[in-house]
Amino acid sequence: MQYTWNDIDRHIADCTQCALSRTRHRPVMGRGNRQADLMLIAEAPGAQEDQQGIPFVGSSGEILDRLFWDCGLSREEVYITNILKCHPPGNRDPKEEEKEACVPYLKYETFLLKPRIIVCLGRIAAQRIISPDFRITKQHGTWTYRKDCALTATYHPSAILRDSAKYEAVKKDFLEIVRKQAEFHQQKFKKE
Ligand code: SF4
Repeated sequence: MQYTWNDIDRHIADCTQCALSRTRHRPVMGRGNRQADLMLIAEAPGAQEDQQGIPFVGSSGEILDRLFWDCGLSREEVYITNILKCHPPGNRDPKEEEKEACVPYLKYETFLLKPRIIVCLGRIAAQRIISPDFRITKQHGTWTYRKDCALTATYHPSAILRDSAKYEAVKKDFLEIVRKQAEFHQQKFKKE
């Protein structure tokens, strides 16, 4: 069966596939431009996202917006989502069974979006999406290619909140992401 964006939104809104459905306030669906070629994937919504039902609000969202501003990006041109759509209490790491239950939604989002670039925000997303042994400290900013899609990872904005020295490293990764995006646009322009 071919799902639409509306189908996914509806399924997530009513989802009880894992125990987080009993503790969440609101599920947090992906947001942004559903025609975007750039997809950002983090691990799970935080406490403020859980209250508002919107990804990357609060302090992490402010850091992300500052990074976007510094790198010439805007939320309107990207699609942002999480592996888990519901907040794990106390911001603990997602459990394996929760990721397994929720990842089909991410697969549908990716299928519908068909991004040219996927950016994993943080270790947990990188280990789920790129490679189980991905080491964020050593490998952030490196690229992997699958079919027509380039994948990379950088630190989650919350890591910058804990250690502001990471800001410049993440900004450098994002500037490279913007450069890669421009390269894809040029290739597309040449083909057309
Ligand atoms: S985390 Fe995912 S699988 Fe679990 S209840 Fe929320 S939407 Fe459903």
